[in-house]
Formats: sequence, structure tokens, C-alpha cells
Amino acid sequence: IKKDNDENNVTVQNTVPLIKDLFHIYEKVGEGTFSSVFLATLKLSDGSKKFALKYLVPTRHPEKIERELRCMQQIGGKDYVVGLELCLRSFETVVFVMPYMRHDKFAEYVQDMTVQETKDYMIALLSALRRVHRFNIIHRDVKPSNFLYDRHNKRYLLVDFGLAQEYVVEKKSNNLKLLNSEAQVTKRKRSDENSLNVSFNTTKKGTEEKCYCFGKAKVCSLCISRSEQIAPRAGTPGFRAPEVLLKHPSQTPAVDIWASGVMMLCILSGTQPFFHSPDDCTALAEITTIFGSNKMQQCARKLGKKIIFSEDIPGVDIVSLCQKLQKRNKGLLDSNDRNTCEKVSLDAQFPKEAYHFVLGLLDLDYKTRLTADQALNHPFLKL
Ligand code: ADP
Ligand code: MG
Repeated sequence: IKKDNDENNVTVQNTVPLIKDLFHIYEKVGEGTFSSVFLATLKLSDGSKKFALKYLVPTRHPEKIERELRCMQQIGGKDYVVGLELCLRSFETVVFVMPYMRHDKFAEYVQDMTVQETKDYMIALLSALRRVHRFNIIHRDVKPSNFLYDRHNKRYLLVDFGLAQEYVVEKKSNNLKLLNSEAQVTKRKRSDENSLNVSFNTTKKGTEEKCYCFGKAKVCSLCISRSEQIAPRAGTPGFRAPEVLLKHPSQTPAVDIWASGVMMLCILSGTQPFFHSPDDCTALAEITTIFGSNKMQQCARKLGKKIIFSEDIPGVDIVSLCQKLQKRNKGLLDSNDRNTCEKVSLDAQFPKEAYHFVLGLLDLDYKTRLTADQALNHPFLKL
């Protein structure tokens, strides 16, 4: 392993002097909006145990740091959820010390995962999510770069509780309500929380209010008087569930299940990213091309919203779509090599249960979407 001599990285590493006393720090292994992650070993050891040091950016809000820390402490260390070994702070810099796990790049394995490998992968991911959800925590950023996979050693690790949120189960109505005071206050300050640039006609309990501007290039007085709709929409484009895109205020762990469904869709189709989703409106349009405008409208109605499409969109058959994309990505449509063609089709021939499974994870209605527990009991994973 080589030492990292990049000046910026060295500056980051020096922000917490105690770290330098305890660890040898090597190369940077990851970087996100809120952190830099380095590989390290303990100085007073034979160096066989490796650690990942996550340096949080100093501008991160202490409340968010505390939440991420608490999630790792309480939930981590079991069922493929990353645990915390140590947390150090010096002035405004906080460092999480985690066990390091080498991992492969999603783009490198998504195209040739076998059926058995896919089952093992999804079982690990859903076991991790089941554990997280049992603590009444929504991870909110489930995606391949936060679910590490070491293909050679068959190891898995759910990381990054940077966007995790608590939710409480309301006992009386049995509704899940998100404890999201933060969303109320910060609204759309962050870059990943740009305002949604589309007008949805809000309906009250399914009955439409009279609005005079819907579909017109003006805003009527009724709409001006409406209170602003506030809903959490943290997450990564392409992995946001319909209820997040449609700004439903009370969101549940089902948002994580949707994201795991998008990961499964990537595997079935050998395509990543599956949804490009440059903005929320396009994201909704992309989901509509899969499920069709009717189902999308139904989904919106259940959330008290209305979407109008300029034309009917029929939806597609997910099996033939995935198979077409698989072939295209493997470059087999034009290939004359029959041997490769046969080999691939033998390995990657997903049974029909796999498609039933992905549709259960990608149920547009968050209330009937599979839970982690139900998904783990699905015939595709049980067979
Ligand atoms: P961010 O909040 O900035 O996205 P993450 O916790 O997701 O930070 O870490 C960023 C990247 O660092 C991950 O995608 C992964 O590649 C790497 N990483 C994080 N934790 C570990 C770990 N325990 N072992 C190995 N690599 C890790
Ligand atoms: Mg991350």
C-alpha cells in the first residue's frame, strides 16, 4: 500500500493530531460531499487489521454528525451493517474509525452477476435493511456505493448513515410518521434539495379542489394561498421512490426498499445507472416509461396528488426490457460468437421469480411495497 502524498489529503489528515499518533494513513479510498475516507492501520500492531477513517467535512451540522454516529454505534457491527471502532474529534473535525473492507466497483460486477450471486447479494442487502428498519431508522441513501461488495471473499457492508432519519410508528392510526423537524426548518437549502419544478395539483382526501390555473401559464389566487409543501427528499437521483419524488410528507422505510429494487433492476438488466434522473420531474417520467401513466396516476392519487400526462404511456414488460438491455450491454446483439452467447445466457438466465421479486420491491404504492422481511421470504431468495 502506498502513502498518500497529495497535499490536500495530508492537510485533511493533520486536522486531528491524535489520529497521526495512532494510525499509519495510506491512500484515499472514497470521497463524498460530506467526507473523505482513508485506508489506515494501527501503528502499534502488525498492520494486518485495516481501518477506514472517515473525515467529516467541518461544515457538517453537529446534529447530523451525532445522528450518523448514533446509527453506527447502535445498529452497526451486525448483519452487514458497518460498525464503529472509535470516534475522534479535534475542534470542528470529526473522524469515524471503521473496519475497512476492500470492495469492487458496481460497474464491474453489475453486468455479469450470476443468479446465485444476485440472490446472495440481495439477501445481504435486505438483511442489513431489515436490521436498520428494526431500529426505526430509514437509511435514505441506499445505492451501490453505500453497499460495499467484496466479490472475491463474498463480503458485504452497508455504510454511510449520513442521511439517515428516525421515524416513529403512530400507535393509534398505525401510520408511520417521519420525525423530520430538520426538513421543516432547512427546507431546500442543500444542493440535493432543489425545488421541484413542476406543479402538482394537490387534492384533499382524493376530492379535487377547484383550481383555476392547473395546466395554465399562471398561478391562481387559490394556489398562491396554499401552504408550501414540505417533504424530505434526501437521497441520490435515480434511487428516489415515487413518494419522495411526489413530495409525500410522511415517508417510511419503504424508500430504502425502493432503492434496493433499483439496484436489483440494474443487475437484471446489466445496466447502471438505470435511471438517469437529472431532476425529479424527469425521474417521474422515467419511472412512468416502465410502469405506464395509468399506474403512475393511481400512485399519485393515493398520495393526494394528481399528475396529468399529455398522452397515455402504456408501460413496458419488465422481463423483455431487462433481457434486451442485458444483451445490448454485453454487445451480443451484433455478435457472431455463438459460444459466448450460449454461455452468458446459461449463467444469467434469471427465473421469472426474479422479475416478480423486483416488481415487489418497486411497488409504486409504498404501503403495499415489500418490507425487508417479506422480501427475504420471497420465493426468488428462498428457492
Ligand atoms: P459519504 O457520506 O461521503 O458518501 P461514505 O461513508 O459513503 O461517505 O464513504 C465514501 C466511500 O468510502 C464509500 O463509497 C466507500 O467506497 C468508501 N468506504 C466507506 N466506508 C468504508 C469501509 N468501512 N471500508 C472500505 N471503504 C469504505
Ligand atoms: Mg456514501
